[in-house]
Amino acid sequence: MRLKNKIALITGAGGAIGREAALLFAREGARVVVSDVIDKNGEETVAMIRSAGGEAAFIHADVSKEADAAAMIAFAEKTYGALHVLFNNAGISHKDDDDILATSESIWDLTLAINVKGVAWGCKYGIPALLRAGGGSIINTASFVAILGAATSQIAYTASKGAVLSMTREIANEFARKGIRANALCPGPVRSPLTDTFLNTEERRQRRLVHIPMGRFGTAQEMANGALFLASDESSFVNGATFTVDGGITSAYVTPE
Ligand code: NAD
Repeated sequence: MRLKNKIALITGAGGAIGREAALLFAREGARVVVSDVIDKNGEETVAMIRSAGGEAAFIHADVSKEADAAAMIAFAEKTYGALHVLFNNAGISHKDDDDILATSESIWDLTLAINVKGVAWGCKYGIPALLRAGGGSIINTASFVAILGAATSQIAYTASKGAVLSMTREIANEFARKGIRANALCPGPVRSPLTDTFLNTEERRQRRLVHIPMGRFGTAQEMANGALFLASDESSFVNGATFTVDGGITSAYVTPE
C-alpha cells in the first residue's frame, strides 16, 4: 500500500478528479478527509470509501473562505491525529468566464477567490499541520492552461491556474528543508462536470482534441494516479514540479493526423 499510515485531505473531493483521488488514496491505505462545498457529493464520496472498507470523514469547506480552510485542517488533525498529504484540488471554471474582452469583474473575483485564494488558504493552514506531522506532500491542482494559451479562452481560469503554478514553486522552495514537498498537478483536458460547462458541443470538443497528441480526453482516474505518485514517498525527490498529466498537449505544436 502506497499511502499506508498517511492521512490525506482532498478539497473538492465530491467532484470528478477529487473523488477518484479520494477512492484511490483510501485503497492505498490512507485515511482520507473529504472536503467539498457541496455536502451531498462529499458525503457520497465518504460512503463509497467506507463501503469499500476504507476510512474517510467529510467536512464542509468553502476553500475561498479562510476560516473554512482553517477549520478543515483542524478537523483533519482532530479526527485522525495528523496530516501528511494535502491535495488542493477544488476549483471552478465558470460558464461566463470568457475572453479578456468579455469577462466581468464578478467572474474574475469569484474565480480568483476559489482557484487562487482557495489554494493559498489550504497551504496557509495545511503547512503548519504538515510540519507538526514531521513533513508531508502538497499537491496543488493547476492546469495545462497555466503553461499554454488555450484554444477556447477562459481568461480568469487561465490566470488563476498560472497563479497556482507560481505559488506552488515558491512554497516548494521555502519549505523543502523542513520536509515538505509541493508540486503542481497540471491535468490536460478531462471530461468532467467542470469541462462540460464550456466543452459543451461536439464542435468545441473536437476543437480541443485537435491539440492532444493522444487524440482523446484524459480521465479522472488518470489524474488521480498522478496525484497518488506525488502524494506517496515514491516521489520523495520530486519538488516544485510542473507535473503534467496531459496526453502530451503541452509538448505539441501541430498534431499529425
Ligand atoms: P469538478 O467540477 O468535477 O470538481 C470540482 C469540485 O470542487 C466540485 O466537487 C465542487 O463542488 C468543488 N468546489 C467548487 N468550488 C468550491 C469551493 N469554493 N470550495 C470547496 N470546493 C469547491 O471538476 P474536476 O474536473 O474534478 O476538477 C478538479 C480540479 O482539476 C480543478 O481544480 C480543475 O480546475 C482542475 N482541472 C480540471 C481539468 C479538466 O479537464 N477537468 C483540467 C485541468 C485542471
